[in-house]
Amino acid sequence: MAVKPIRTVPDPILRQKAKRVKTIDNSIQKLIADMRETLMSANGVGLAAPQVGVSLRVIVISIPHQDQKNDEYCLINPEIVRRTGERAVREGCLSIPGYIGEIKRSEQVRVKGIDTAGKELKLRAEGLLAEALEHEIDHINGVLYVDHLESQDKLQKVEPEPESKDVSI
Ligand SMILES: [Zn+2]
Repeated sequence: MAVKPIRTVPDPILRQKAKRVKTIDNSIQKLIADMRETLMSANGVGLAAPQVGVSLRVIVISIPHQDQKNDEYCLINPEIVRRTGERAVREGCLSIPGYIGEIKRSEQVRVKGIDTAGKELKLRAEGLLAEALEHEIDHINGVLYVDHLESQDKLQKVEPEPESKDVSI
């Protein structure tokens, strides 16, 4: 496993539609292991393969709990099949360091994809997990959260501080 450098804007790979994974071979398992390690070292909530320079439809998510082990998710070829409700969130992105934006996300999402063993996976999510799924699935479609800003004044420059409650996805 290895921590990979995280691509930041305006790297063109972040704007490409990533390709579907056809076979979950060793190279995909290694990619997932590297993505998990990179996400952990960046203290983020989620990471999509294009952010580590690989244009494939793979995402990892790690939802923090107080005093508990994080909930870890890995989805291959994920798709949102249903979105319900709307809520305002303050969102950051590891590929856009130093900024937080206020955007709208769904209250609940249903997502399908496949897991690391190649089995079909269905998830129903709300809260931070729903937000992270929408954010990461946007990434594999070449979309960034700043594309959802209603106006530029909804984007705020922030100083990186370790105690900050704002999360980067
Ligand atoms: Zn992001």
